[in-house]
Amino acid sequence: MNNHSIGTKCVQGGYRPGNGEPRQVPIIQSTTFKYNTSEDMGKLFDLEANGYFYSRLQNPTVDTVAAKICELEGGTAAMLTSSGMAASFLAVFNLCSSGDHFISSSAIYGGTFNLFAVTLKRMGIEVTFISPDATDEEFEAAFRENTKLVFGETIANPALDVLDIERFAGMAHKHGVPLIIDNTFPTSVNCRPFEWGADIIIHATTKYMDGHGSAVGGAIVDSGKFDWTKYPEKFPGLCTPDESYHGIVYTERFGLEGAYITKATAQLMRDLGVTAAPMSAYLLNLGLESLHVRMKKHCENGLKVAEYLENNPKISWVKYPGLKSSKDKKLVEKYLPNGTCGVISCGIVGGREAASKFMRNLKIIAIETHVADARSCCLHPATATHRQLSDEELLSAGVTPDLIRISLGLEDAQDLIADIAQALEQI
Ligand SMILES: *Cc1c(COP(=O)(O)O)cnc(C)c1O
Repeated sequence: MNNHSIGTKCVQGGYRPGNGEPRQVPIIQSTTFKYNTSEDMGKLFDLEANGYFYSRLQNPTVDTVAAKICELEGGTAAMLTSSGMAASFLAVFNLCSSGDHFISSSAIYGGTFNLFAVTLKRMGIEVTFISPDATDEEFEAAFRENTKLVFGETIANPALDVLDIERFAGMAHKHGVPLIIDNTFPTSVNCRPFEWGADIIIHATTKYMDGHGSAVGGAIVDSGKFDWTKYPEKFPGLCTPDESYHGIVYTERFGLEGAYITKATAQLMRDLGVTAAPMSAYLLNLGLESLHVRMKKHCENGLKVAEYLENNPKISWVKYPGLKSSKDKKLVEKYLPNGTCGVISCGIVGGREAASKFMRNLKIIAIETHVADARSCCLHPATATHRQLSDEELLSAGVTPDLIRISLGLEDAQDLIADIAQALEQI
């Protein structure tokens, strides 16, 4: 399928039924798999044969959908996880142990920020946050002897800053570590970070890939390009025997194309169990079948609403990477020429009070802690997710009291704009 274009991969990637087999991906709703001899099963446990034995580690439905996302990103191996957070955690924890350090862009999803700054710290893993606009000197200064990776988001949620992926990859590689990219917002349809030097990609499939607000999930994809064996002292988990797996050396047994994902499955999924359910994978696949069609409409609605808001006197500012006035215009032209995403943020004249009133008046656009759904939704962090913070604390968290995040769905733009117009008129 690798010579097909992205839309064809969205529809048919990952699953090629044989003669007389189901056209749609079958849901293998089974925790376990039956074998004729103990020896047959033993070979699977030793990773000597391919096959399934327990759905906490691997399941055929889940693997089929992971294979589609692998094709979409142009990777060599992929896995699904129970959530986007689980994908970020496994992606980092597969390379970092207690005593290790990594670097992350500060413009990332709030949940990921908390995972890195608080929870990983409790596990003895330290992070240094750098601005996506950090100078080369600031970037260089963040690297340490024990730095194991660099992390960033293609389009940050909710800051909507665009990452210079090629620059981040170059800096990571200069220091002998991989770049992990969270590609949730543009999806593989609008950006393929492997083409710009990223080594590992994660997704919160909960967002556009699912696209219908139906199943929480995540994915990790490996490009197979990062040569762990050049730095065996830095990546002992991949380059030295795994005693919990009969002394397997993942890079020797599975090559650069399979080592990272096999280790994350055989070791981390085994021990942590953040598994995707077959039914969730099936629902995700239904979303993926129309991803290329939906992304176009999300981006079209995002741009139309952003342009409308930019010219409305009751709106003090608008941030949308697709706008001509975006500070990231050059990066968008380079990395996201076909579109960015359907999420915008804006400020309402009148601050906290006006924002709250505006949202109460909306009829089509619903108040939700979500983005990237077929149905448009919005969130006012100052009165919802960040309500315990004072205006001053909000600012230090990068959220102004007047900030509203709107995720444009698949409704017709004229109705969305009319809804926003009537809600603005009432404040
Ligand atoms: C939502 C989101 C996550 C977390 O995904 P969950 O499925 O909610 O755990 C990670 N990164 C980004 C960019 C997100 O938008």
